Amino acid sequence: MKYKVRFVNPQKQYKDHQKEYLKVVDDVFSRGDLILRKDLEEFEEKFAKFVGTKYAIGVNSGTDALSLSMKAAGIGQGDEVIVPGHTFMASISAVFHQGATPVLIDVGEDFNINPNLIEKAITPKTKAIEVVHLNGRIADMEKILSIAKKHNLIIIEDAAQGLGAKMKMKNGKWKQAGSFGLAGCFSFYPFKSLGAFGDAGAVTTNHPEIAWRVRLLRYNGEDRETRRFYFHGETSLLDNVQAALLNAKLRYLNQWLKRRREIANFYKKGLGNIPEIKLPHFGDSRFFDVYQNYVIRAENRDSLVSWLAKKGIETIISWEVPNYKQPVMQPNSIILPETEKICKEVVSLPMYPELTNWEVGYVIKCIKEFYKKKD
Ligand SMILES: *Cc1c(COP(=O)(O)O)cnc(C)c1O
Repeated sequence: MKYKVRFVNPQKQYKDHQKEYLKVVDDVFSRGDLILRKDLEEFEEKFAKFVGTKYAIGVNSGTDALSLSMKAAGIGQGDEVIVPGHTFMASISAVFHQGATPVLIDVGEDFNINPNLIEKAITPKTKAIEVVHLNGRIADMEKILSIAKKHNLIIIEDAAQGLGAKMKMKNGKWKQAGSFGLAGCFSFYPFKSLGAFGDAGAVTTNHPEIAWRVRLLRYNGEDRETRRFYFHGETSLLDNVQAALLNAKLRYLNQWLKRRREIANFYKKGLGNIPEIKLPHFGDSRFFDVYQNYVIRAENRDSLVSWLAKKGIETIISWEVPNYKQPVMQPNSIILPETEKICKEVVSLPMYPELTNWEVGYVIKCIKEFYKKKD
């Protein structure tokens, strides 16, 4: 199928920055700086600054960022971790990898964990809340932080989709995804807002002990200064060349996030009057959304998806089946009503900074045609 509007388009970003990216790679390779070199250190410093934490530790994926920070936080056998049911499976797998038990609870209209359901899920075994900031919108951290404080629970943030999303706190200060919890976990999977050329991730934290542990855990458990092994670790590094490329890309991140918000506004203007669809604009001026994904809820979702495909527009559905119905999660008796509804209704529209205004307009036009067609 030849698409007119691709769901993602990494070639286009590459073309726009080809000279710069190739120069970065050539420079790194010419220096022979492959593992744990200055480009990684520089990226960790800049990334921590961007998110607003003291430390950032590069690792090889968002999934490992979750696993290593949970391990560093001491989450293990016998512990329960409260997790939103509507999320990428990795959020849940990371809990299982610690030998702990994920306790899935439902989400709200903003697709994020429903804070009103958290306290009911707390048991004497609960050790942590894993908050996911889905689609580039922060979960209601004001409420979640106060619940965590009251019950003495750790917060681990799955910020893989939250980079750059902000929330205005009661004290009037804006705080970014990844800076609220004991640890923030990021993914630089190629199609995230800041994408590497392959798999990559990072952990952010303000806690020196967590930073030290993640740093050791990502590289066999060895303290590189004393040459002593303190843990049985992994080999899970952010490659120096990827870090160098991410350094180059980080300079454009704010500009790219701005463009995502602009495209979201075009969608809002163009699609706002169609009663059969619900757009991901949830009001509340305390939230600064960055639209990692633009997820609409649509009547006749599956026919809309086929119609758009016929028009040459690529979309994806995240996710068609709730996590707890996947084979790996069987058997269980979980039913989360909002998650079930979401899985039947959602479709993600193309959303990346390189989309042209014409492409966005074409997507809008075709969706309008689909709903007009019916009456
Ligand atoms: C992408 C993603 C991850 C995993 O990141 P990888 O780098 O692909 O391992 C985890 N959680 C969420 C919500 C994600 O979107």
